[in-house]
Amino acid sequence: MTAPARLRRLAAAVPVILVVAACSAETSSPTRPRGEAGTTRAAPLPPSGAASAEPSPEVRPVRPGDLRTATAVRVVRHLAGAIGPREATTPAYERAAARVARTFARQGYDVTRQHVDVPAGESWGVPVPAGRSSNVVATPPGFDPTRPHLVVGAHLDTVPQAPGAEDNASGVGVVLAVAEAAAGRRTRLPVVFVAFGAEEPRGPTDDDHHYGSRTYVDGLASAAKRAVRGMVSLDRVGVGATVPVGSAGESDPVQRSLLAAARRAGVPAVPDPDQRSSDHWSFVRSGLPGARLGSTPYAGYHSAGDVPAVVEPAQLERVGRLLLAWLAPR
Ligand SMILES: [Zn+2]
Repeated sequence: MTAPARLRRLAAAVPVILVVAACSAETSSPTRPRGEAGTTRAAPLPPSGAASAEPSPEVRPVRPGDLRTATAVRVVRHLAGAIGPREATTPAYERAAARVARTFARQGYDVTRQHVDVPAGESWGVPVPAGRSSNVVATPPGFDPTRPHLVVGAHLDTVPQAPGAEDNASGVGVVLAVAEAAAGRRTRLPVVFVAFGAEEPRGPTDDDHHYGSRTYVDGLASAAKRAVRGMVSLDRVGVGATVPVGSAGESDPVQRSLLAAARRAGVPAVPDPDQRSSDHWSFVRSGLPGARLGSTPYAGYHSAGDVPAVVEPAQLERVGRLLLAWLAPR
């Protein structure tokens, strides 16, 4: 079954959620991401008025085996091979963001673009201008941001000199493959998928990076903030044979649940404490639960050598399976 067909089946199966969403459509703007440039509605509006609040058993829960690793590999080749370096304010970044937005839309998600303003600075030794980047935000049809949900994201930008296959086309590739697997299937909570702009540093301090994820968190109304039950950032997830599971401090509830999911999926994983070098930190520093997957060191880091051949499909698969085990209903 195609993803849109599965979504239509899901829409028919969960009418009450969708009716609630339809009712809240006019009042939900304060909780929408700030500065959105437009909305692409990929799926037809679901039918309303059916009788049951219970999701039909017909809607199958997502499983680790639903992952198509080839989707992630294709994304890595396109972003790091065909597009190449994509510093957050460049036309190349914009092409990458448009491509990711089209992919989410084709999978059946509602897609919004959120503007991210960034200052001039220095990124890994290269001067970068002030300008505008963007987040690509994908929500399932009928999504209500004030109800409990999960956020899964990966940064789409690179430092100016790197094609960024591992950092971080790998993360975006797994996010898109997991979104594809989850489309129209049951997850334990609704999932928002985000490709973040401008994660890479433009200066030396803790406020000089992670602009896209900070803009996302700052744009959440307090009810939507309370509804974020866990955030996972995928950042450098295609190198190695073990998956680092990072927490901003000693440990984090999201980190512990990811480690448990790794055990269920049979994926080797190791805790990675004091890990603040990715977009989960924007959530944690605002009081929300968050963790990171990935960070194994590699030779091509932030260089012209960060090409698709660096990324190992088997590791993309491990991370995708781990994440789907985390999203699956228990
Ligand atoms: Zn990165």
